[in-house]
Amino acid sequence: MDVKDDLAKWRKEDICAHWGDDYDRYEGAIVPPIFQNTLFTRKTKNHGYTYTRMSNPTLELAERKTAALECGECALAFSSGMAAITAAIMHVIEKDCHIVSLNSLYAPARTFIGSYLRKLGVKSTFVPGDCVEQFEEAIRPDTKLFYLESPVSNVFSMQDLSGIAQLARSKGIATIVDNTWATPLYQNPLQLGIDIVVHSASKYMGGHSDLIGGMLVASEESIQSIQVNERGMYGAIMDPHQAWLLTRGLRTLPLRMARHAENGLRIARFLKEHPHVEKVFYPGLEEHPQYELGQKQMSGYSGLMSFIPSEGATRDITAMARAMRVFEVGPSWGGFESLMNYPGAGMKPEATEATGIPPGLIRISVGLEHADSIMDDLDRGLHQWMKGSLR
Ligand SMILES: *Cc1c(COP(=O)(O)O)cnc(C)c1O
Repeated sequence: MDVKDDLAKWRKEDICAHWGDDYDRYEGAIVPPIFQNTLFTRKTKNHGYTYTRMSNPTLELAERKTAALECGECALAFSSGMAAITAAIMHVIEKDCHIVSLNSLYAPARTFIGSYLRKLGVKSTFVPGDCVEQFEEAIRPDTKLFYLESPVSNVFSMQDLSGIAQLARSKGIATIVDNTWATPLYQNPLQLGIDIVVHSASKYMGGHSDLIGGMLVASEESIQSIQVNERGMYGAIMDPHQAWLLTRGLRTLPLRMARHAENGLRIARFLKEHPHVEKVFYPGLEEHPQYELGQKQMSGYSGLMSFIPSEGATRDITAMARAMRVFEVGPSWGGFESLMNYPGAGMKPEATEATGIPPGLIRISVGLEHADSIMDDLDRGLHQWMKGSLR
């Protein structure tokens, strides 16, 4: 396919496979080489590159694909999702301003907004986020940013992105959305009026649990400023080798996501019917209280969900995990492998307000294994759970 084609005619599968690739530039190599170099010489000719902390052709390929998938003007690659998130926030805020964000926000982002930024006099209000009025009521004269994540970590409630973007624009407030859960395939917040989209590329975009990375997508004007300032000066740029792995991951993103989505829905339905499960949190279930909103602003659902087993936080979760053969236990998610962690294990109801995590919550990332193997494994784990000793 020809890179000079009009992007509007490209389908997302084709963007993943071919957009931004320039075979003639690299001797026809179908997989471009890694530019694993610190600097670019300009003794005889200026090639447009200077130093890899500013830009690098291997990063630019991942950036072009991500921008195209997000229907954004430009993208920048960072050394982690948190690097992209903190750069985006620092780009839009001012000293002593006020930020509105979400109770159940991805924890390091919440700590950055709610605690770390206090040293710059930044104040914050955290709301559940499931209706626009909560944002409207939280606005103060010094509010500069609505920082969003939809669906949000652990409980997977959603925010009405176009409603919140409209409110923000009318008040001169910037909006950032963490779009890691839905990936650029299933949700495009910029098209709903959001200013900046951030991703942890360590999850589905990379998809193989072999890299840490972040992506930021925004207008060309914002990107030019962030490239020089927040990325260029803090220096948290993606390494060329990570960028090369990310591009490799992106080429199969549609295939992987189709399987994560299919397995995800089957497993969510299975858990909902399971006698030892009290509650399932998954936006793709028709019973989800915001199902309609999800249908309106997303075109698919990924494979990360959570549930509370019967009797909540009362039993020994480690015995359950050890009885399971498919699921590994660990942080992160979005790779080929099924993973679980238990943020709500042993949690007291009082702690829920500070963390947004209900007692007993178990989070699972449904991988690319056969759905029957995953269901058998969960069934095995849940039976062990009911046999396990009370805490
Ligand atoms: C993992 C994660 C991040 C942070 O990404 P890193 O690459 O680990 O820095 C941000 N947001 C969400 C929703 C995540 O799950």
